[in-house]
Amino acid sequence: MVLTPRDHVVVVGAGLAGWRTVEELRRHGFAGEVTLIGDEAELPYDRPPLSKQVLAGKWPVTHTLLATPERLERARVRLELGVGARHLDVAATSVALADGRVIAGTHVVIATGTRARRLAWYTPEDFEVRNLADARRLIARFDELSTGDVVAVVGGGFIGAEVASAAATRGLRPVVLEAGERPLWRVLGATVSAWLQDLAPDFGVELRTRQDVVGTDYRYDNGDADVVFADGSTLRARCVVVGVGAQPNVEWLEDSGLVLDNGVVVDAHQLGAARVGAVGDVARFPWPDGSFVRVEHWQVATDHAGALARYWTTGESAATLIPYFWSDQYGRKIQVLGHPHPEDDVVRVKDTGEGQWLGVYSRRGIVSGLVALNQPRALTLSRSLLEEPTTLEAAYSRSPWSGPTP
Ligand SMILES: Cc1cc2nc3c(=O)[nH]c(=O)nc-3n(C[C@H](O)[C@H](O)[C@H](O)COP(=O)(O)OP(=O)(O)OC[C@H]3O[C@@H](n4cnc5c(N)ncnc54)[C@H](O)[C@@H]3O)c2cc1C
Repeated sequence: MVLTPRDHVVVVGAGLAGWRTVEELRRHGFAGEVTLIGDEAELPYDRPPLSKQVLAGKWPVTHTLLATPERLERARVRLELGVGARHLDVAATSVALADGRVIAGTHVVIATGTRARRLAWYTPEDFEVRNLADARRLIARFDELSTGDVVAVVGGGFIGAEVASAAATRGLRPVVLEAGERPLWRVLGATVSAWLQDLAPDFGVELRTRQDVVGTDYRYDNGDADVVFADGSTLRARCVVVGVGAQPNVEWLEDSGLVLDNGVVVDAHQLGAARVGAVGDVARFPWPDGSFVRVEHWQVATDHAGALARYWTTGESAATLIPYFWSDQYGRKIQVLGHPHPEDDVVRVKDTGEGQWLGVYSRRGIVSGLVALNQPRALTLSRSLLEEPTTLEAAYSRSPWSGPTP
């Protein structure tokens, strides 16, 4: 059942999860052939810095490269970049490419991630930040602008907040247009979103909530746009960036017979079929409470890759995954551990009164997640609360978060 040197693993999607799967297969000693297919013409690179250091002008894009020459050599991988997969034959474990070729392996890994969600009014002149090409295009536009120029950011979630922070760092004037009552409400819940609502104004970024954007109108000849609202009013901006979520890249699998339900549905070993795995943003995997979740987090993509490579090379299962996510926004670091639901109860501990605290989520009295604002050490110390079911009372009596503030 485990991989032998005669096997050939075909990995589709050359982002973080795909690249990590290749590296993990080699780390576990797999000696057979590995092919990595990616529709971007780029060597595998890391996305989180795109909306942070790269957009703020602090890092060159080359700093995002994952597949450095040394790592590529160790990976001994055949690269097929700049060509998308169009069809998967599960029984034959073969992948048909957009250029007509078919690559047949013995095992296939689906790591095609997500793409930016586009609202009905989206036009190609609007900006988004999902990949390196998007980041390069937005940086080129930022470079044309002058201090104080208005950048409209549609969506106040993690990407929108990071883009706005980067624009402010460059001396531009971001205006965040959030549809909800508060940013991050649907992700972190009413209480935590209220605790975070002053971050943007405290950083000098204008945040407008309950905004109903219905379009953009590029009627000026210098690339400026009017953002158009449902009530007919407009906001003139030198640049409009849209960050309203992501959706899984599964269309190429529609006739494959795999179970698709907001992602590729997999089992506890990341398998969608006997010799077909799915990892990273595209995978919808089982959660201990019996539900299936799809999580768009860097650490989850890494953990999935490690778990699948380990299972295929050793037959061993991975430990239960604890999702981890971070976001650098408005000069602060937000970190989330676990899988908190917006409806969960939450209490605030380790509050310094100076914009540093830890929120402990609980569901039916059991700790379900942690959120930290500039409290990385308290978050790390509290990880044990999620490693096994822990009541809120037990969490308080253990108080793992009460180490010194760094
Ligand atoms: C701007 C940005 C900032 C982020 N910041 C954070 C952060 O601060 N913290 C955090 O935890 N997470 C962050 N994330 C999320 C994190 O980057 C993702 O969870 C991670 O990239 C997922 O890796 P993946 O390989 O599953 O998907 P992706 O990185 O999306 O890679 C999938 C790859 O597959 C390719 N592909 C798609 N369809 C096909 C096809 N048919 N054939 C061939 N190739 C295909 C795609 O073009 C892409 O190259 C951020 C994401 C973005 C975009």
